[in-house]
Amino acid sequence: MVSKTKIKKTRKDKVEDKPRCGLCGKTRKLTKTECCGQWICDDEEKYVIFSYARNSCSRNHQRYTLCGSHYAEEHEGSWKDCLVCRNGFETEMYVYYGTNEYNFEKLENPPAYLPTKCAKCGVIISLGYDGYSQKGNEYWCEECTHKEMENIYRRGKQ
Ligand SMILES: [Zn+2]
Ligand SMILES: [Zn+2]
Ligand SMILES: [Zn+2]
Ligand SMILES: [Zn+2]
Repeated sequence: MVSKTKIKKTRKDKVEDKPRCGLCGKTRKLTKTECCGQWICDDEEKYVIFSYARNSCSRNHQRYTLCGSHYAEEHEGSWKDCLVCRNGFETEMYVYYGTNEYNFEKLENPPAYLPTKCAKCGVIISLGYDGYSQKGNEYWCEECTHKEMENIYRRGKQ
């Protein structure tokens, strides 16, 4: 009995050594990212069906990380000290793209930034996570955007 248990355990350990997606941990249908050579779900085609959903690991990494965009834009060197990336995004988005859950490696010393506030009500908007709209240099939170849209609608009816 004892030896049987031992064998089982060894086999299980081997299974756990299998490559897994560095973002969600799945072991099926993997591919390697072009930008950084990490194992990731080969799930790009899922996106076409569920548009706008952020349910594809490989798409999320390509679209919503510095690593992915740095590679796509063909910048030189590492994304972590790339000035083109640093200057190409607003600091808050730069930090978001460099530290969100779609990264294998995160920015070690993300730069500080002032929080973005709603131009209408002053609530702090997290550009990476919250819904918002942008009018020129102003950001509006989701609630104010909805209210404004209702106002426009009502005014149009009068
Ligand atoms: Zn995955
Ligand atoms: Zn990458
Ligand atoms: Zn770059
Ligand atoms: Zn607001």
